[in-house]
Amino acid sequence: MITELARIEIRDAGGVFAARQLGREVAAELGLDHQDQVRVATAISEISRSAVVTTQTAAIALGADRSDLIITVTFGNELPAEGSRTAARLMDKATATGTVLRMVKRRPANLRPDLPAISGRLAALFPPSPLDELRRNNADLIAALDDLRQQQEQLLLVNAELEETNRGVMAMYSQLSQELEQTNSGVVALYAELDETSERLREASEAKNRFWANISHELRTPLNSIIGLTRLLAEPESEGLGPEQRRQVELIRNSARTLLALVNDLLDVAKAESGRLHADPATVQLPALLSRLRGLVRPMTEGRPVEVIISDEGAPDSILTDELALTAILRNLLSNGVKYTNAGEVRLSVHVDGPRLQIVVADTGIGIPASHLRQVFEEFYQVPGVRRGGTGLGLPYARRLAGMLGGDLTLTSEPGAGTTVVLSLPHGPAAAGTVLVADDDPAFRQVLRGLLADIAGRVIEAEDGAAALAAAQQDDIDLVLADLRMPGLDGMALLAQLPASVPAIIVTGLDVVPPPRAAALLRKDELTSERLAFAIRNACGGAS
Ligand code: ADP
Repeated sequence: MITELARIEIRDAGGVFAARQLGREVAAELGLDHQDQVRVATAISEISRSAVVTTQTAAIALGADRSDLIITVTFGNELPAEGSRTAARLMDKATATGTVLRMVKRRPANLRPDLPAISGRLAALFPPSPLDELRRNNADLIAALDDLRQQQEQLLLVNAELEETNRGVMAMYSQLSQELEQTNSGVVALYAELDETSERLREASEAKNRFWANISHELRTPLNSIIGLTRLLAEPESEGLGPEQRRQVELIRNSARTLLALVNDLLDVAKAESGRLHADPATVQLPALLSRLRGLVRPMTEGRPVEVIISDEGAPDSILTDELALTAILRNLLSNGVKYTNAGEVRLSVHVDGPRLQIVVADTGIGIPASHLRQVFEEFYQVPGVRRGGTGLGLPYARRLAGMLGGDLTLTSEPGAGTTVVLSLPHGPAAAGTVLVADDDPAFRQVLRGLLADIAGRVIEAEDGAAALAAAQQDDIDLVLADLRMPGLDGMALLAQLPASVPAIIVTGLDVVPPPRAAALLRKDELTSERLAFAIRNACGGAS
């Protein structure tokens, strides 16, 4: 049931204000909140205005039932479409029937206002003067402004919250990046520590090598004296020695010899490790070298059922290599073969395999368990349980020497059946396609050109680093021979700018250590065709 609270007739613009004021008053009386009061007032104002604009009358009745504020507008002629639509938008519900528009606004459910009393109060209030309504209008505007301000404040609040969140995110981010930074600096510190450790290790290893080099040297002198003196003592013509004393002197002499061999091993390894070992290549007569080896090995087998066979069948007459190093490698391998063979044979054979020379030392000895195969190349490593004198330095030294000769050493073994070690060395003439010679001395370029005659397919000359670099960009270069001291771009700078795929050999008058980028360093005053060929073969390979 609807209780009518107020009613107003619109005839002109003046009525619009009154209607607005009335709508607002009714809404307030019914307990609608401020915004809804404004909405109702505005809806009525719009309806009234549209009636005035379309030059017709409108009767507006405001009433209420239990849940709603109900506004019923009856137009004189027709429903003004635009005004009705605007008004309807401000209300909860609007229905049009003919010229009647019915609009509804829900009112607060918890309030039970005294409707007749409201009706009485409204009657007393109206009709008001247009000025009053203007004042009220202003107040409405101010209220609307307040609303806006509130909304703005809310926005600011939201903004502040957003900022807070932002700050949180930023804090988290900075914490994360701090952690990352800490982790990173930890990693950096770790690497620095690693560098330091490896530097210390390197220093320790150098110190160890220096120590061995010195001590070996110091030990050798008195040992040689002992050996010499015992030899004198043991001579048959020396007098004053009983048979037992003679035997003891012989024992001293043997021990001193063993000790000297050990010291020599240590000296060799220390030298090899300190990088002071350089190949001095020359043409080596291989059969002669092999026969010398036979002589060296014979005493090792004395009184033991082991036969050493050194065959030169299929061996080339000569080989370009370092004779001392090659002899040391093979003596080591043969001595191991004899040492670790209780009964049977040790056989050395030579095969030419294209540009490689393979020297194989195979024994029928105790062999090496697979799990120790790798370690036997480590310094001082000896397979547990089979120690037979020695130092554990032979194989690592032999492998190092093989590397110095441009070759390598591989070992295969079967426990109980024997061990085979293969030394593979570069063999045959050196060969390089196009060689670029960079040297500011034209006379020396001429010398190199001569030495390269049998090695290089083509020689290009450059008088400094820049010219060499330009030439290297223009042509496919297989090898660079570079002087160190050149005007402008010097040898080091040239090497740094050359493609890494082009091997380079330094040929210099300076007494310096070879830079890592160089495959070899040759001294001009010691240059021979053999040294040059050896270096080129190791850098580029040979003619196959
Ligand atoms: P060592 O002075 O002990 O012979 P090496 O470095 O020459 O030292 O060899 C390391 C170890 O490898 C030896 O101690 C031995 O256990 C094993 N080994 C080397 N050569 C042979 C071989 N021909 N047969 C069996 N074992 C070998």
